[in-house]
Amino acid sequence: MFWGDKRYRSLNYELRNIFGTKTIKLSLDGGFTCPNRDGTVGNRGCIFCGEEGAGEFTSSKKLSIKEQIESQKEFLSKKWPKGKYIAYFQNFTNTYSTYEDLNRKYMDAISQDGVVGLAIATRPDCLLEEVLNLLEKFNEKVFLWVELGLQTIHSKTTKFIRRGYELDCYERAITELNRRNIKVVTHLIFGFSNENREDMLNSVKYIANTNTWGVKFHNLYVQKGTDLCDYYVKNPFYILSQDEYISLVVDSIELLPQNMVIHRLTGDGKKELLIEPRWTLNKLKVLSGIDKELKERNTYQGKRFKLF
Ligand code: SF4
Repeated sequence: MFWGDKRYRSLNYELRNIFGTKTIKLSLDGGFTCPNRDGTVGNRGCIFCGEEGAGEFTSSKKLSIKEQIESQKEFLSKKWPKGKYIAYFQNFTNTYSTYEDLNRKYMDAISQDGVVGLAIATRPDCLLEEVLNLLEKFNEKVFLWVELGLQTIHSKTTKFIRRGYELDCYERAITELNRRNIKVVTHLIFGFSNENREDMLNSVKYIANTNTWGVKFHNLYVQKGTDLCDYYVKNPFYILSQDEYISLVVDSIELLPQNMVIHRLTGDGKKELLIEPRWTLNKLKVLSGIDKELKERNTYQGKRFKLF
């Protein structure tokens, strides 16, 4: 089974099929915060989250949405001179504001030249009824997906990482988004110190059986400026090797249904902040290692997918 030149359904493949050309994500900072940092749910955020949130590569929030899109387009035009764009609200919790503010920022984004889609990263506990209704409205106007940082299904881990919501909250969110035909992308992290391989693959099996449209796999990063870094210094824990990570990702690809879109197979750590795993800095090597192992095993996405 092949999707273009890959043995899995990549986002690149999927967007090219839908839009007929290279479609590029523009990472934006909408100036939002997070209830897990501002005291509403928690004060210090998830244990791996730094002061800059998830958007190490987003534009400066001092710029307007229009200016951020223009500068991102300009920057990325060296690599991809032509294409269409997805405006990606990446940093912190991008549904955590008033209806009017969200409406204005999303509208600004989709009104720019060449923008054909909208991607919104958020938390499942930040999808109030009026926000869901707003997303439904945008889903009718534009290609939309919503990203949810689940990371793991195991409550022993969610307490340690201070995620701040339980699995049933994610389940309610995905039900509400599915009910409105809004596509969901679920994030998972591999490498939590209290999880073994079976635990990690059980999280994959779980999301393989939810109606999530896409998935992102990340390594657990120990980065300077996070509480996880302080913890690691005092209690060094086992870090997955590159070979272990590749093998885990290939197992995961086999477990996903063939219609699920794989948005990411490994993360983008910031070199100057990254403590471990240092091997992730060579992203191309990790990706080619995954392709190599898929080929050697003569396997592909969905080979071991089971409904349960
Ligand atoms: S939910 Fe996201 S932005 Fe909020 S603390 Fe956790 S990782 Fe950071």
